[in-house]
Amino acid sequence: MTIRFDGKVAVVTGGAMGIGEAAARKFAELGAAVAILDRDAEAGAKTARALPAGKTRHAFYGCDVAVPAQVQKVMAAVTAEMGGIDVLVSNAGIQRYGDVVGTSEELWDEVMGVNLKGCFHAAKYAVPAMVQRGGGAIVVVGSVQTFTAVGNSAAYVTAKHALLGLVRAMSLDYAPQKIRVNCVCPGAIDTPMLRWAASLAPDPQKVMDTCDRMHPLGRVGRPEEVANAIAFLASDWASFITGASLLVDGGMLTPTGGMGFQEGGTGAATKQ
Ligand code: NDP
Repeated sequence: MTIRFDGKVAVVTGGAMGIGEAAARKFAELGAAVAILDRDAEAGAKTARALPAGKTRHAFYGCDVAVPAQVQKVMAAVTAEMGGIDVLVSNAGIQRYGDVVGTSEELWDEVMGVNLKGCFHAAKYAVPAMVQRGGGAIVVVGSVQTFTAVGNSAAYVTAKHALLGLVRAMSLDYAPQKIRVNCVCPGAIDTPMLRWAASLAPDPQKVMDTCDRMHPLGRVGRPEEVANAIAFLASDWASFITGASLLVDGGMLTPTGGMGFQEGGTGAATKQ
């Protein structure tokens, strides 16, 4: 059995660039018709045009996942124009910084609106179309911050933790309808978001070098490496996997005390 999505429709939120773009390309390569949903109309349309087409048709739909009316309208359009929805990749996300005291109400709501409620909206309006198709798969993009925290990121960390709760709740609610729901949790991945985050520091290259060292594999991940995991979880190869989370983190969360502790000398536990 090979992983194929011929005859299926895959919807990818935040599909204009980064991990979402890689996922959209992966599903297109594997035979799916792909609907890219993104609020960046120029980049989204360009990405959709560049997808390998073959016999299938891909499309871009402008949409802010934080706005329920827009998501509802777009999911209805995808269903009508592309024939249904089989796969939802809930990937759209933003990174914002601040501890609780330093986070304004507006910033908190912005992060929750996109990263958590955006996933709620996408699933709310995609699931009925999946039920009509007799089943489907939802893959939510969490983060290593679904399990751990970095400083000065209270809203982001909270939203990413909460996503796993939403994944688990949906996996139970929709199992009878044969809809599987899983979460991929990436480490640092070389996307526009990571480059933007690094650019906030006085020496962005130093941040990228640090990101490399945070992973036992010695480098940050590539968007297509996350896309591979997303495609696997959405495919029949994962037919008995639901409610699960899959780290795609180059081993980042494995070392006790983090890589700094490993590198810093831990007595007998350090390989000489
Ligand atoms: P990018 O910023 O590179 O790409 C995200 C895309 O989503 C952009 O096109 C962005 O548009 C779009 N988007 C953002 N908000 C919305 C919205 N409200 N509605 C529709 N589209 C939106 O991000 P990544 O590819 O790096 O990240 C993708 C996901 O992976 C996110 O959920 C992120 O939290 C997660 N992740 C990323 C990691 C990394 O190291 N890169 C690590 C772990 C998790 P715009 O440019 O206008 O914002």
